[in-house]
Amino acid sequence: MAMVNFQLDEMQEMLKELAHQFAVEEIRPHAEHWDTESIYPKEAIQSAHEMGLLNLHIGEEYGGPGLGSMEEVLVNEELAWGDPGFATAAYATSLACAPIITGATEEQKQMWLGKVAQEGALASYAVTEPGAGSDVAACKTTAVRDGDEYIINGSKMWITGAGYADFFFVLAKTDVDAGYKGMSGFIVESDAEGFSLGKKEVNMGQRCSDTRSIQFDDVRIPANQLIGGSESGGWMNAMKAFDMSRPNIAAHATGLARAAYEHALQYSGERSTFGKPLHKHQAIQFMLADMKTKIEASRMLTWKSACDSDAGIKNTESAAHAKRFAADTAMEVSTDAVQVYGGYGYSEEYPVARLMRAAKVMQIYEGSSQVQKMIIGREITKDL
Ligand SMILES: Cc1cc2nc3c(=O)[nH]c(=O)nc-3n(C[C@H](O)[C@H](O)[C@H](O)COP(=O)(O)OP(=O)(O)OC[C@H]3O[C@@H](n4cnc5c(N)ncnc54)[C@H](O)[C@@H]3O)c2cc1C
Repeated sequence: MAMVNFQLDEMQEMLKELAHQFAVEEIRPHAEHWDTESIYPKEAIQSAHEMGLLNLHIGEEYGGPGLGSMEEVLVNEELAWGDPGFATAAYATSLACAPIITGATEEQKQMWLGKVAQEGALASYAVTEPGAGSDVAACKTTAVRDGDEYIINGSKMWITGAGYADFFFVLAKTDVDAGYKGMSGFIVESDAEGFSLGKKEVNMGQRCSDTRSIQFDDVRIPANQLIGGSESGGWMNAMKAFDMSRPNIAAHATGLARAAYEHALQYSGERSTFGKPLHKHQAIQFMLADMKTKIEASRMLTWKSACDSDAGIKNTESAAHAKRFAADTAMEVSTDAVQVYGGYGYSEEYPVARLMRAAKVMQIYEGSSQVQKMIIGREITKDL
């Protein structure tokens, strides 16, 4: 009988260690500077790509590593432990590739996944609009067929990595009266005529990650950049992409929480009040214990959703559990870490303030915590 076990195999251990060393040497030393100065970590992203730590889910037939979701979450926890802003910035391309993996034609996969895996091209996922976030079906961007081309008009908001992307996955309406069923996915290159970038947003946290609006004014693209070659499957495909990406966002949140907890644990041994180290006070020890339990639970939910995906089991619900619980944990644990540091925690001199600022967006993007509850609610009641 097959046993459930939580032991990583030799290759997984090696990959995790490689990602950890990369985080120690190439991410942590720069994290504060990147955040303070809002510097996009382009060179570090390129090095991570060259070391085989990014876009692990792109198949070998397209020049990618061809690894599973489980390997991907192991790496992503370590990268976010290094710096959550780096992890978000580096993951943008994977998110944009997800709907290509799940819905593109073979020819499109060769072309666009090949560019990412073999040439280190960067990409962004452009779905959210100024007036449509959680309610994706309310999106207004249109794509109208004109001979061998589509003409795209509209704008997208909060697009991670937009200023550096070579191409975008864009969700647009090909039938404006058909709601979410009238949506189609497209590839748009950043040098297309009529495409323009908005200014970089000044975000609360993860400031090294580039977030912008983008605008399409009569942007003409070849019709063969319609993903999957037929209209209308775009919404479903963009949602399927989330089943692939959410375990990784949960892994980022787990890595962030672990980093905050480790800082708090260490500090609790260095700082004394009332004649003993902080961690000898039971109230602080219980806080640390709660942090650790939630981190362990986040990781288990993350691994479960990744294993479901690798086993070909529909992971919509398990990915929603993981993403929501891990994001909420990252927020709680980083807030408690600031508490353990007391006044010093409130200062940007110490890393926990940056981690607390970085955590908040994890409850917002890739489907907010409320949206995850809506997904879980829908999944558990659908057969009633
Ligand atoms: C830093 C950053 C990076 C991002 N990167 C990307 C990206 O790369 N690509 C992309 O396409 N998008 C991206 N986003 C957008 C992100 O996915 C959206 O912000 C998110 O989906 C929420 O949409 P909204 O901001 O429009 O909020 P709204 O949808 O307006 O929601 C506002 C609040 O109401 C809650 N809410 C909404 N509807 C309901 C409901 N029915 N029941 C209960 N509560 C509800 C939400 O949870 C939220 O708390 C990014 C956002 C940020 C901040």
